[in-house]
Amino acid sequence: MSALPEAELNERADLADLAGLRALSGEGSPHLAHEVLCEVMVGTRRFPVQAYTLGNPDPEVPAVGFFGGVHGLERIGAEVVIAYLHSLIKRLAWDAVLHRELEQVRLVFMPMVNPGGVWRGTRANPNGVDLMRNAPLDARSRVPFLVGGQRLSAGLPWYRGPRGAAMEMENQAVCTLVERELLPHRFSLVVDCHSGFGVNDRIWFPHAHTPEPIAHLPELHALKAILDQTQLHHPYVFEPQSRQYLAHGDLWDYLYLQACAASPRVFLPLTLEMGSWMWVRKNPRQLFTRHGLFNPLIAHRQQRVLRRHLGWLDFVVRAAIGHRRWMPEGAAREWHHQQALALWYRGRR
Ligand SMILES: [Zn+2]
Repeated sequence: MSALPEAELNERADLADLAGLRALSGEGSPHLAHEVLCEVMVGTRRFPVQAYTLGNPDPEVPAVGFFGGVHGLERIGAEVVIAYLHSLIKRLAWDAVLHRELEQVRLVFMPMVNPGGVWRGTRANPNGVDLMRNAPLDARSRVPFLVGGQRLSAGLPWYRGPRGAAMEMENQAVCTLVERELLPHRFSLVVDCHSGFGVNDRIWFPHAHTPEPIAHLPELHALKAILDQTQLHHPYVFEPQSRQYLAHGDLWDYLYLQACAASPRVFLPLTLEMGSWMWVRKNPRQLFTRHGLFNPLIAHRQQRVLRRHLGWLDFVVRAAIGHRRWMPEGAAREWHHQQALALWYRGRR
């Protein structure tokens, strides 16, 4: 939609900025902290991979991580995370209830995991690697050809990276942030925002690498129950990713298994797949300009998509804060387990 010729757009682009977030992070001071986790090169350009944190760092309080822009083409994912962070920062100035919430929760944001891919308008990172197929974890059953992850060529989509190589820098940054900011907490949730699968909005939880249910199936069923009870007519299909397809190298499966092996703490990674988003062909580089996302050029449809999901992100924060009130124990946990098996796994094993 920007009419600027590319050369001029490049000149104007402030690459340290992200949708005006740098200016905003000044506004969030002293509550909001910002850091650069690593820098990605595209040609001679340098892109910081950034994280923002706010709220109570005490490991005894729950934590929520918001991630976006893992796939460069799915720019709306980054936009939803940025829009939510934007709204929180603006509310810091006046919203006393938000300040009370932030005493009870730690919030972590990584709005654009793959800035090089966003800049280039590609799903993969600048090395041609699909970051959601890149973790050192193989599927336990047959995966769909190519889509499930492949090592044939970086020139084909869904490339996992060379066998035996370390994870890509962007994924290492995700792991570092998760290990440092989320896993030490007694309870943590993640929402990783994607788009483009099917026509319905979906909330996926692990596993992606096997059709077997995860250890925290009762907790996820209980979370779905409070979502259904309190967000009437919400648009989401809530399900394990394995109901749709299996894949190699899923980063959230990998981190979930690491978390389970390391401690009894609860870590629930969710993926928001915005299915109804119709891609609007705009210059993806607009996200890197000073005016970024929040300019009058923003399409009405895009505004609707952003608004549609903010309620879900707020719900996730409140669910984390109140987790002791809905996490099932004893007989209730067993009831949720049976209900979850019947809902998601019956007839599929
Ligand atoms: Zn995606």
